[in-house]
Amino acid sequence: MDVLALLRSFYAKLDIKPVVPESREDVKAEAENNGYFFSVKVSDDGSALVSFKGTGFVFTPKTSSPDDFTAYKKELCRKLYSVFKEDTGRDLPWGMMNGVRPTKPAFIAALAGRGKSESDEYYRSEYLVTDEKADMSWDIARSELNVLGGCEHSESRCKGDRRGYAGGYSVYIGIPFCPSRCLYCSFTAYPLAAFKDGGEAYVQALIEEMKSCSKIFPGKAPDSIYMGGGTPTALDARQLDRIISVAEDVYFTGPSIEFTVEAGRADSITEDKLKVLKKHGISRISVNPQTFNQKTLDLIGRKATADETVEAFKLARSLGFDNINMDIILGLPGEGMDEVKHTCEVIEELKPDSLTVHSLALKRASFLGDWIEKNGHSAFTNTEEIQKLARDCALSIGLEPYYLYRQKDMSGGFENIGYALPGKECLYNVVMMEEVQSILGFGAGTISKKVVPSGNTDAVTKPGNMSLGELIRSGDELHMDISRCENFKEVGDYISRLPELIDRKKELFG
Ligand code: SF4
Repeated sequence: MDVLALLRSFYAKLDIKPVVPESREDVKAEAENNGYFFSVKVSDDGSALVSFKGTGFVFTPKTSSPDDFTAYKKELCRKLYSVFKEDTGRDLPWGMMNGVRPTKPAFIAALAGRGKSESDEYYRSEYLVTDEKADMSWDIARSELNVLGGCEHSESRCKGDRRGYAGGYSVYIGIPFCPSRCLYCSFTAYPLAAFKDGGEAYVQALIEEMKSCSKIFPGKAPDSIYMGGGTPTALDARQLDRIISVAEDVYFTGPSIEFTVEAGRADSITEDKLKVLKKHGISRISVNPQTFNQKTLDLIGRKATADETVEAFKLARSLGFDNINMDIILGLPGEGMDEVKHTCEVIEELKPDSLTVHSLALKRASFLGDWIEKNGHSAFTNTEEIQKLARDCALSIGLEPYYLYRQKDMSGGFENIGYALPGKECLYNVVMMEEVQSILGFGAGTISKKVVPSGNTDAVTKPGNMSLGELIRSGDELHMDISRCENFKEVGDYISRLPELIDRKKELFG
């Protein structure tokens, strides 16, 4: 974590802008014109002059030198963490961790056969993570390993090999269209109405891409397929039918393979589309309310009403879908305890098979950035109590946490947690989050990853050989070498330059 990220985490409601002054006069002018409450000036010898809310001190590193910038930055941030903690009277739930995958250390510890105490100690000493989050990380890591044990379609099965999932792969199919764009959206998602052909050229290109890459894993079925976006059900029933039929022909060799389709928004869900999914044996779908408060839905630009989402969920159930996920977001503008309580009550009534609880990411690249410019941060509330409400809601209907990730600028400094009934977890979410399996990505804005076991097997096969910190820092901790290639995000670029993208993918996996 760097100093700016630390400041923004502690003082999320302030609009903090970094300034790099050229001279002392610049600093003075900046302070007089705009006001500042924090500055840091690092000297060549590593000492740093820190000024905070009108007081100042000199930081002298004890265990690092500026030559090792990573270690130096960590020591400086540790000092600043204690200063900001004293000022605000609170800890950050994830301490100084700011990566997308905070459970990775616990996952590595569990994989390498280390105990919970070693994992907890690492979280606390390295990153000042709270006990609650260290506990949560361990529980999730154990659950993830359990879910990964289900990779029974991989060539090197998990049976007898606890890392058998590495021999398999999963498929991601991206549909970058939505009925309209939500206020907070930062995904590759375009309003379908802007495409005069109803997305037909895109569907044709997607099908061509899938077919052209069919020999990358010849004769081998994936462990999971995930169709997301965007909102896949923004397409019409026939288009969905064609895409899934090709996925089946090319990759899908049996009904037991996990196949998720994000039905997402209720304003895109119709009976004929659900029947298409059912006909193809789609094993898991999402019907996402985000909130069941109509006022908030209107504000964030989700056109489906709360009632329509309930109806869509019930329709899917009546058609026999027995693994339905719902997504909710905590920290939406104008929502506090009462609103989240209402959302939780509806969820408890519907009893989805899994629930993904997000914390709003305050992304400046979304429409939300403009909204914040105009309205400030005061409408956003995300607290421990609100988090507990959602957690209790999930637990009360028998769901257990099984995967977790974070995004940049998450309100309250929290995380996104996936809960599921035991046995209804989404394998794709786990392999993608822990980066333990190759992913073939198709469609605009998707990323393909080649994940292969690396040469270093000592660290994991000889537990105790290295400390957990060394194991993690070695960079080879999961025995996985990861390389990637990305598809263009713009639909026009994706379609017109498809041959190039196909070649890139073949080269990646070649
Ligand atoms: S439904 Fe999801 S992908 Fe579509 S606009 Fe809303 S947030 Fe973005």
